[in-house]
Amino acid sequence: MQSPAVPFGDLRRQSAALRAELDAAVSRVIASGWYILGREVASFEEEFAAYCGAAHCVGVASGAEALYLALAALDVGPGAEVITVANACMYQVVAILQTGARPVLVDVDPATHTMDPQLLAAAISPRTRAIMPVHLFGRLADMPAIMAIADHHGIPVVEDAAQAHGALLDDAGGRPRRAGAWGTLACFSFYPSKNLGALGDGGALTTSDPDLAARLRRLRMYGWGSKYHTAESGGRNSRLDELQAALLRVKLGYLDSGNAARRERAAWYAELLADTPLILPADYPGHVYHLYVVESARRDVLRAHLQSVGVGCDVHYPEPVHLQSAYADLGYAPGSLSHTEALAGRILSLPMFPELSRAEVEIVSSAVIEGLSR
Ligand SMILES: *Cc1c(COP(=O)(O)O)cnc(C)c1O
Repeated sequence: MQSPAVPFGDLRRQSAALRAELDAAVSRVIASGWYILGREVASFEEEFAAYCGAAHCVGVASGAEALYLALAALDVGPGAEVITVANACMYQVVAILQTGARPVLVDVDPATHTMDPQLLAAAISPRTRAIMPVHLFGRLADMPAIMAIADHHGIPVVEDAAQAHGALLDDAGGRPRRAGAWGTLACFSFYPSKNLGALGDGGALTTSDPDLAARLRRLRMYGWGSKYHTAESGGRNSRLDELQAALLRVKLGYLDSGNAARRERAAWYAELLADTPLILPADYPGHVYHLYVVESARRDVLRAHLQSVGVGCDVHYPEPVHLQSAYADLGYAPGSLSHTEALAGRILSLPMFPELSRAEVEIVSSAVIEGLSR
């Protein structure tokens, strides 16, 4: 008997549940007659900064823009090196190369899929101008260790928090701290499928440094210090718009419940898949499960089976940055980032979103068990 299909994601469910509030937000903006950098963006920035535990938030056009603007605000440019990872899609390297700096790639801890602090320490050179860890799949990178290394060398840290809205980790003093409240700057994406998603493109940076916040406000708007007066060159048009900000204010109210629902679904998978040879994601209380990523030596067989029975799945990400032909001139040979490369062949993302039902998680899990027995 064929079970019903389970989608990898389904944004219609979330939009339907919040429809009246989203409609009201859109109507409010339309009626206001003010569509760029107005009250909605200013309010969202305040609310999201407070949520993250940062002093400032600056809304921008996307997560990719946030990464670029963070480096630009730190004066990263030609001759500089920025240390990041190679398993988190190409976003970081794209931003680093746009500044003219050189990406320096380090391997990840195979248990957490995030930057290995020891390898970070070994990669620091006199030219290192920023460190860009990625909080991948909803898990914070080892920020206490990374911040200790960065602070020791006086190097700014730019968190890529695009997959970690609301994720928590204890700081060195044992106090839980959210993604966005660790580094010199942190970058968020509000791409629709993220834990906090707009109904279009959007992004933001958080920081506790008022000068950096002010600089980011200039850089996102042509470099203007005031209307028609350019305070600095190197600016661009990278604004979060009023409509998306108004929608994000609605969705921010549901971020914690959505993250709790993701954690509940992760616990269901852990229960239903406990007796399989899969490596399941290492849990900890602050994980927000942007993606639910399992590991299997027989990943491709499993993926083909899930696809054949209508269960959505995906690989995040199949081709590490340094092995992409477009980045061959970064100079990393195959084998140079061994954990990153091995993981790329083993990882599989199962359906994970707050509206996924228990019955669907059971269908997915049964299909996984069936696929592993092939
Ligand atoms: C989605 C994502 C980005 C890019 O965000 P966009 O808003 O799509 O530009 C950057 N980094 C990570 C880790 C992401 O998941």
